[in-house]
Amino acid sequence: MKSGLRRRYQKLSINNEYRKYFPYKEYRHGQLEAIREITEIITLKEHLILRAPSGFGKTITVLTATLPTLERESDSKLVWLCRTNRENNRVIEELKKIDNIPDNINAIVIEARAKLCIKDVDRELKKDHEAFSILCSEMKKQGKCEYYNKLIIESIKLPQICGVKELREVCEKSDVCPYEVAKKGVPNARLIIANYNYILMPQILKTLNTKLDNSILVVDEAHNLPEIATEIEMEKITLRGLNETSSEMMREGIEEYKWIIDEIIKIIEKGEEDKVVDKIYLKNILEEKCGSLSQLASILIGIGNNVRRRIARNGGKPVSHIHHLGRFLMKLHETLGRDEYVLFSGNGEMWIECFDPSNIIKRVYKMFKATISMSGTINENYGELVGLESYKYREVNYLEKRNILSILVPNVTTDYEMRKPEMYQKICEYISIVAENINTGIGVFTASYEVLEGILNAGIRNIRKPIYIENRNDSPKLNEWKIEEYKRMAKTGGAVYVGVCGGRASEGEDFPGSEMDIALLVGIPFPEPSIRMQKRNEYYEKRFGENGILYSYILSAIWKASQAAGRVIRGPEDKGAIVYLDERYRRYIKLLPEWLKPRKVIKEPEQLKEELTLFFT
Ligand code: SF4
Repeated sequence: MKSGLRRRYQKLSINNEYRKYFPYKEYRHGQLEAIREITEIITLKEHLILRAPSGFGKTITVLTATLPTLERESDSKLVWLCRTNRENNRVIEELKKIDNIPDNINAIVIEARAKLCIKDVDRELKKDHEAFSILCSEMKKQGKCEYYNKLIIESIKLPQICGVKELREVCEKSDVCPYEVAKKGVPNARLIIANYNYILMPQILKTLNTKLDNSILVVDEAHNLPEIATEIEMEKITLRGLNETSSEMMREGIEEYKWIIDEIIKIIEKGEEDKVVDKIYLKNILEEKCGSLSQLASILIGIGNNVRRRIARNGGKPVSHIHHLGRFLMKLHETLGRDEYVLFSGNGEMWIECFDPSNIIKRVYKMFKATISMSGTINENYGELVGLESYKYREVNYLEKRNILSILVPNVTTDYEMRKPEMYQKICEYISIVAENINTGIGVFTASYEVLEGILNAGIRNIRKPIYIENRNDSPKLNEWKIEEYKRMAKTGGAVYVGVCGGRASEGEDFPGSEMDIALLVGIPFPEPSIRMQKRNEYYEKRFGENGILYSYILSAIWKASQAAGRVIRGPEDKGAIVYLDERYRRYIKLLPEWLKPRKVIKEPEQLKEELTLFFT
């Protein structure tokens, strides 16, 4: 459903200093102010947190503001970090719209080696990036990769704006490796577009081989960064993996180290439930027999490296369980005395979990002279969460209030204590009346798969509308198919998509036009109560006092919910409705983006139907 209402545009001043880079005729409301603010941030060498709704044009806003610096200062670079390859590509597409990019500015996208590799290697092997990287190194050393060999004699010229498509085209024509060409191109590129892990993982950052001290960092969809940094920091071993380690030790003739496995298994097998293990306790047990934990870890890593290289030389998948155990023990050693890393065991596993990635993120931000973290959902608390000492926060909005209807339903909740069949029944009444009476695309986003199960049991499938339901075991391909089918049906009479907050459809998927006009949020995606959550809360209470739980889990849950709610608006002409089916949203209104804050309260399904019908008529 499109609104015929006046769009919120701002006339472009003829003498505007940014005109050279801004490829559109008019600025959206707030865009010029945001460009000026970013320019100031760069001049003052500061950090900016920018919240702007989808369709605002965040990418072109930041490009317009940063390119003049790149043109003026030949030693400056712009590093643009995205979560997905699709987002990398969006930056390239916007750049291509700018006419006459100065000759001294060139851009390159670098993706994972396994993604860019053109050699015919087993696809399964390419899925394990670490193993593939070792295999690739061995092939290069032995001269077994023709695409690498040829690169030594060929000199490749890349286009000024080089996305993955262009990189592949150029390299395939000359039969050379796109990854190696991109890697060589990065030190000379002025604009580098890459995924988060290029900066978060020091070993990958080294391969970029580039100076960053006079550079600008842009973190796209920054609400994802803390979670991804946390995932990168996690180290895990499993009972199954330890059994494999034991067999590998036998094969390698190093049975004298098998006692390590026995000691760890003894701890893991002490009960099925998740429990905290004292890191010092494990260290002492190990050091009683070996003297030094770090030395023990280094020995195992060394042995594992030899095993991996030998397998790679023979063309196999270079995986070593001994190496994995060594890395786990090294992580244990490195995180001793650091409260943000906690050792857990349970359910046949032992893992080191990082509760707080601010040390890693802070280190990254400090490498640059200025940074811009942008997202449709983050709020000013992001700065404190990631450990920035000072920063500016700006929320911009170009949407008209009359194009958005945001409703709170206060007599339902998915609060853990209240999850009863009657409650799910009540929630289903609201969903059904909307789905059966309004013929458009409707997204239902639940707090978790447990809540999704609850509404399934309450009969959500019986809605008389095509309905597509996400399943946690869906393959990416099946999930993609469901989304595409849903979109097709949404445009021809309406359909319902049921997924979870934080799932594939609720983030990163665009639903333009009438593909999703209504989003119903069932619950708030708080994590389930567990010992891990309890420990995490304790940690954040130590760091932030009475605001501890805000940083521990409330922020990320509200950001996830806002992402899902934001699916209904993808541009200035969209009209959309958001329905919060959980009374607890009342407590967190101030954390929601301005345009998503509920403005109406409704307590009856019939009343909800009437409001929505009126809004869309
Ligand atoms: S050098 Fe390039 S083409 Fe060759 S195996 Fe490695 S990534 Fe693949």
